[in-house]
Amino acid sequence: MASGARNGGARAGSKMDRQQGPAATPKPAAGKPRLSASASAGGAAYRRTSSGPLPAAGGGGRASSDSGVSSRVRVAVRLRPRNAEEQVADADFADCVELQPELKRLKLRKNNWESDTFEFDEVLTEFSSQKRVYEVVAKPVVESVLEGYNGTVMAYGQTGTGKTFTLGRLGDEDTAARGIMVRAMEDILADITPETDTISLSYLQLYMEMIQDLLDPVNDNIAIVEDPRTGDVSLPGATVVEVRDQKSFMDLLRIGEAHRAAANTKMNTESSRSHAILMVNVRRAVKGRNEMDVSMSAENGHSSSMMGSLRPPIVRKSKLVVVDLAGSERIDKSGSEGHTLEEAKSINLSLSSLGKCINALAESSAHVPVRDSKLTRLLKDSFGGTARTSLVVTIGPSPRHRGETTSTIMFGQRAMKVQNMVKLKEEFDYKSLCRRLDIELDKLIAENERQRKYFDDEVERITTEAQCRVVEVERECKIALENEKMKYHQEYLDSIKILEEKWKVHQQSPKKENEKMLRQSAEDESNDLRNQLLHWKKMEATATAEVVKLRRMLDTEASQKDKFEEEIAVLKSQLMQLSLDADETRMSLDTGDGPGKIFPGLDSLMSHTRSSQPREQSNGPKAPVAKLFEQVGLQKILSLLESEEPDVRVHAVKVVANLAAEEANQEKIVEAGGLTSLLMLLRSSEDETIRRVAAGAIANLAMNETNQDLIMAQGGVTLLSMTASDAEDPQTLRMVAGAIANLCGNDKLQARLRGEGGIKALLGMVKCGHPDVLAQVARGIANFAKCESRAATQGNKVGRSLLVDDGALPWIVKNANNEAAPIRRHIELALCHLAQHEVNAKDIVSEGALWELVRISRDCSREDIRMLAYRTLTSSPTLQSEMRRLRIEC
Ligand code: ADP
Ligand code: MG
Repeated sequence: MASGARNGGARAGSKMDRQQGPAATPKPAAGKPRLSASASAGGAAYRRTSSGPLPAAGGGGRASSDSGVSSRVRVAVRLRPRNAEEQVADADFADCVELQPELKRLKLRKNNWESDTFEFDEVLTEFSSQKRVYEVVAKPVVESVLEGYNGTVMAYGQTGTGKTFTLGRLGDEDTAARGIMVRAMEDILADITPETDTISLSYLQLYMEMIQDLLDPVNDNIAIVEDPRTGDVSLPGATVVEVRDQKSFMDLLRIGEAHRAAANTKMNTESSRSHAILMVNVRRAVKGRNEMDVSMSAENGHSSSMMGSLRPPIVRKSKLVVVDLAGSERIDKSGSEGHTLEEAKSINLSLSSLGKCINALAESSAHVPVRDSKLTRLLKDSFGGTARTSLVVTIGPSPRHRGETTSTIMFGQRAMKVQNMVKLKEEFDYKSLCRRLDIELDKLIAENERQRKYFDDEVERITTEAQCRVVEVERECKIALENEKMKYHQEYLDSIKILEEKWKVHQQSPKKENEKMLRQSAEDESNDLRNQLLHWKKMEATATAEVVKLRRMLDTEASQKDKFEEEIAVLKSQLMQLSLDADETRMSLDTGDGPGKIFPGLDSLMSHTRSSQPREQSNGPKAPVAKLFEQVGLQKILSLLESEEPDVRVHAVKVVANLAAEEANQEKIVEAGGLTSLLMLLRSSEDETIRRVAAGAIANLAMNETNQDLIMAQGGVTLLSMTASDAEDPQTLRMVAGAIANLCGNDKLQARLRGEGGIKALLGMVKCGHPDVLAQVARGIANFAKCESRAATQGNKVGRSLLVDDGALPWIVKNANNEAAPIRRHIELALCHLAQHEVNAKDIVSEGALWELVRISRDCSREDIRMLAYRTLTSSPTLQSEMRRLRIEC
């Protein structure tokens, strides 16, 4: 293949250049028709070669679409400047190539007049900086790798043309000299997110179909493992070191370089005979899409955490392979360099196989001998695979190496025809999901364990608590039960007791009970009686003492009584005597009384004794009274008026009456309160005899003007009127009328006397018709009229006679001619007195008294009265005119 490639390539290159030269354009796009022309071949290659990767993608490992994007292998040519030796040795010769970088063309001189022109994707002159080389050759690939595509940067060329210079310069002394490896790593590290992305690498050397681990030289025969399902190749035996920063990367490169050098020394070979392969694995988590999926699943109503935990994250696992190939110059099979033929074959195998494969791919051959060498197996994805591949072919300027240079150029030209289908190396990160699920599972198991433990503890706690409660409740129940039992037992005992009592009560008959009660009450009663007896006994003793005392007093009283009775007997006999004396006196007085000297006697009063008692001589009427005063004393006599004994009272009042008949006694009697006592008898005594005698005594006392005032003052008129109205005996009326008649003779008392009903009382008494009574009444009226007349003649202004007012006139007229001389005389006088006053004249006329006056003036036996009547008739104009009218003449 190597020779074929070299020769065929040169020819084809020149032919192509010639054939296609006109079609070629200086612009990069100019290559496109050519590239598109080979696209069908590339597409075929793709179809063939992608049968490996595709099933792998279709196996569910890929998260992205399987449809790749067509991407041709890009090839740049770099010319090394002349080195010192060449500057000397080739000083006289021109370079074998001429570069037209702006046209991306390279002219390869065949001789001084002929050259072949080749177009490349980039033409880098000897003056191109490392930076520019990186940017043109590697940067697009690096960027592609960071986006998730596999990428390959490979240097192909004769030993000493600058492959290692281009790829592997560390730039320790001059940062501008840093090669593609260093710069690529710088860009990668700058782009990744350390928290989610990881960069790891393996550094290998392929020599004589043996893969050696440059990071672990002991590991010198690493097997290529091909996934039978996906066709992906991997080196599980290689050391993979994670790169965190540039420094550690540089260190790794140094280590790898040192090991390479050491290994080559050990194997007695040159580094130019081995291929150095740096494999950088970029693993990046895809942000956003997974989260979006989570939110979408949440919207669908699923548990976000659950879905989040079950949905695997998406990861992009891309790989950048930087291959520093062994020198492309042919190895002398003769073993001039100390290699055996087998060695030489083996050394060249990989490179020649690569050439064959490139040729096959470029020509869209049906068969691409990928499996012929380890290199082609390792670079399976880089050519005709899914990687973005950039190839830099390095050439020297020396015309002495024109052949090798031509061969290199032709290799590059063929490589430019290789079409890849780049694909995103994106897949679900099941491992990470699995890890996460493992962690979650562990958590859940731990949580479950914790909860179970908590549950068990809780159950144990509740059980313990319940047991305690049960014990407590049992204890409480037992106590309560005991209490209840006690209570009911007590109640039972009480009930029994009550029943027994009831039974006992029931047994005792009601009769028995009654007897008991009766006996009890009888006992109580007897006790009471006993007490009372004691009490009464005490009382009796007291009373007996009292009785003895009283008896003694009684005896004293009795002896006194006897004494008094003797005294009374004496007094009675004396009284009898006195009464008789009084009668005698009255009789003698009665015969000599006149019109102005009325003296009421006690004749009738003593009438019953008059027959039985012999009339004594009246020569010493005062002797018995004086004797009585001397013997008894006025006070004593007056006190007897209030005696309990009715007889004593009667005798006493009679004695007083007889005493009062004596003018000399009257003053003493009144002074001793006799008048008051007599008036009292009128008021209080129920015995008419007493009242009659008392009235007589009052009548005697009433002869005195002073006494008249006293009688009036003590309501005597009223008492006398009462006595008169209650009287049954005419003598009583006679006494009363006599008393009032005496009062009528007092000028000053007239109005009051009349006011207290004196006149009415007098007139009231006339109906008894007794001449003695009538005589007293007539005397009173005459007295009254005389006083009125006297007042009138004295010039006092007086109105009509009160007698007329009280209706006395008709009685006067009726009795003016009474047959009893005393009556007739008093009335005649009264009528004359009345007529003397002119104001009474009309009434005299109207009552018919005029005729009586006329009769008196004519017929009266007493001359003085006859004259008085005549004077009266002649002096009164009214009477005169009436008489004239009636033609009466006196
Ligand atoms: P290769 O790896 O292809 O065998 P190297 O990279 O070892 O070649 O280069 C060989 C020599 O050439 C080294 O000394 C290197 O410094 C030098 N060299 C290569 N390319 C350049 C360049 N573009 N500019 C300057 N010196 C270079
Ligand atoms: Mg090298």
